[in-house]
Amino acid sequence: MTPETHILVLYTGGTLGMVESEQGLVTAGDFDQRLRKALDQLSPSRRSRLPIFTLREFPQLIDSSSATPADWQTIAAEIADAYDSFDGFVVLQGTDTLAWTASSLAFQLKGTARPVVVSGAQLPLEAAGSDALTNVELALAAAAQPMLNEVVVAFGGQLLRGVCTRKWFTQDHRGFTTPNAPLLGEWVDDRVVLYAGRLLDDQGPAFELPDYARLGQDAIIRLPLYPGISAESVRVQLMRTQVKGAVLELWGSGNLPEDAELLGVLADARGEGKLLAGISQCPHGPVSIGHYAAGAGLATIGVLSGDDMTLEAVFTKLLHLVALNQDEAWQRERFLMPLVAERASGLL
Ligand code: ASP
Repeated sequence: MTPETHILVLYTGGTLGMVESEQGLVTAGDFDQRLRKALDQLSPSRRSRLPIFTLREFPQLIDSSSATPADWQTIAAEIADAYDSFDGFVVLQGTDTLAWTASSLAFQLKGTARPVVVSGAQLPLEAAGSDALTNVELALAAAAQPMLNEVVVAFGGQLLRGVCTRKWFTQDHRGFTTPNAPLLGEWVDDRVVLYAGRLLDDQGPAFELPDYARLGQDAIIRLPLYPGISAESVRVQLMRTQVKGAVLELWGSGNLPEDAELLGVLADARGEGKLLAGISQCPHGPVSIGHYAAGAGLATIGVLSGDDMTLEAVFTKLLHLVALNQDEAWQRERFLMPLVAERASGLL
């Protein structure tokens, strides 16, 4: 970090900026002034190690449980517009869908040579015992690290690869984990320590900013298996015309019930060019579609292996590929290709 290092902070809402109301916690503004007041409570040496920043507050602050792909698009567009004017970026938002935002930003801002750090908090900034100030401090410090060429999540003293992140705790201040990928860095003695060998190299920006809003709702859907699932319920969800692809949340190593009708529905969907990708309902480890006879039919009809990618990564990647409006062969090839280290593949 140099004395001129300048970070852009985008504040979109979420618990960290919320205040109490009669209905419970609600989003609240004036965050620039509130945050600077809180940062002034840090010791002078800690305060002086933080970069200067400009904070932009989104006009419509939201609880991130209402976030949509259009919001991910807006955030990426803001960063792309401001890319040449700042050294790093911090996105502050609610924790509920933070891993989805981080995953989507990783694909949209592919190749970023400036840190894009997503953070939030389990408790509001002004609440007793809040984690908001330390998370923002970590996020600002991470955004000033020139070695970071990717989207990361800064939370609970950890730096995590954004596209491998999942919300893991509803209340614990650790908040997030990367079930299949190692930590990228940690907050040690009030400083960022990066694990250099695990970071992405500087590839040079190759941003892809397609129009997600154009796809409408339910372009990509989730189809989690449950015992006794009927082919009919899958058909009703999957065969709607607006559905362009689905994440199949399979059993174990990539299995589904022995049900010819169910496989037939999936084959029909493939016949219509819908992209289907399979992941496991187990939080750790990859799928290996076709390893068991129970999953062999999936490989035959062309279900793509999500390997050890998270649900959030597979969903946002499918959405991204569909929005780019290329032919099916290109989409399938790109899906199977690691674009931003979203396939952790045995890194743990
Ligand atoms: N519901 C809140 C949100 O996602 C939760 C949080 O921020 O922790 O905006």
